[in-house]
Amino acid sequence: MGSNRERLPRTLLTLVDKRGTSHAAVVVGIDVGGTKTNATVLDESGAFLVDTMVETSSRVAEGPDAAMEAIATAMELALAVAGAPRTAVLAVGLDTPGPASATGVISSKGANNFQQPPWWGFDVRAAAEFRLGLPVIYNNDGNAAALYAHLHLFGSESDSRSSVSAIVGTGLGGGVIERGHVVRGAAGMAGELGHVHVPMDGLLEADQPIPQCNCGFGGDLESVASLSGITRNLLPYWLTRYPDHPLADLAATSMADAAKAVRGYGERGDELALKIFGQQTAAIGRMFTIAANFTDPDAYLVGGGVVESDPDFRDWFVDRVRAATTLREEQLAVAQFAVVADLDMAGARGSALAAMRAIRPEWSLDI
Ligand SMILES: [Zn+2]
Repeated sequence: MGSNRERLPRTLLTLVDKRGTSHAAVVVGIDVGGTKTNATVLDESGAFLVDTMVETSSRVAEGPDAAMEAIATAMELALAVAGAPRTAVLAVGLDTPGPASATGVISSKGANNFQQPPWWGFDVRAAAEFRLGLPVIYNNDGNAAALYAHLHLFGSESDSRSSVSAIVGTGLGGGVIERGHVVRGAAGMAGELGHVHVPMDGLLEADQPIPQCNCGFGGDLESVASLSGITRNLLPYWLTRYPDHPLADLAATSMADAAKAVRGYGERGDELALKIFGQQTAAIGRMFTIAANFTDPDAYLVGGGVVESDPDFRDWFVDRVRAATTLREEQLAVAQFAVVADLDMAGARGSALAAMRAIRPEWSLDI
């Protein structure tokens, strides 16, 4: 990012506080998760003024009012770390887990992280705007992270490139970026890569049931390539093939706890774990093959805990995804595979970048 810094100086907007001190204008990015809310600060030169995670309890389980207080707290904490006064803030970028509309209205049926009735159909963007007294630009967390990954990878060339990001977490998040911008879709539901059906032929064992997703589909990407896919589908099946595996006892008590332990086994080269992650990489590759025929992106990005782990395991995982992605010769010559950078901060940073672009459309990283 910022390979053309020598092109500076460009006139940056400065704001003057009550004491007459001028400050560079900034935007704040806020990433609301199921347990933590974290925030960052971006200035107009494209520099993030916060290097680490600045986070606070998200309080979403207490309902919207508590969560809005947590958002305000996260912003104050990040501004303190950045040494930027509140008066320097032009806008706020906000992301939350979905499902939510493109404008930040939580699904009327609630959501995994927003289960209490007060959240159903709640306009989180408007509420944050009211609480903070600043313009708020909303993205879902997958799209925000995908935007950051794209801009981090391509820097000043972002606006001429496209990418698809698949982020393996509890579910399968991510997004589609076309010429530097998030593809949102008519109803705000573009980039729901987890619910794209992938061919299961040759991916599943002969006696393996079709994996089921929480969304109601059978055989979509998230039903395989997510923690919930391991819990619900992959681990229960593979334990029937490896009944003496050490995870069998834990699985009998809690399949969810056993599923969380699979990654550690994978890093140590355990056979059952590699069968599971092998199926995940095959599924991601098959979704990328669909993407190759839909938008033919410059980059295929993989993120999530699974690639934030041991470097050898990460390389094995990404290599397997690449091998499972069927590209044409012309595509192979230009496509790149990479890991989503700084995943724990990607949501907040992507949100900040989206906010900067929304309020200053002429802004680009090419400064
Ligand atoms: Zn699904």
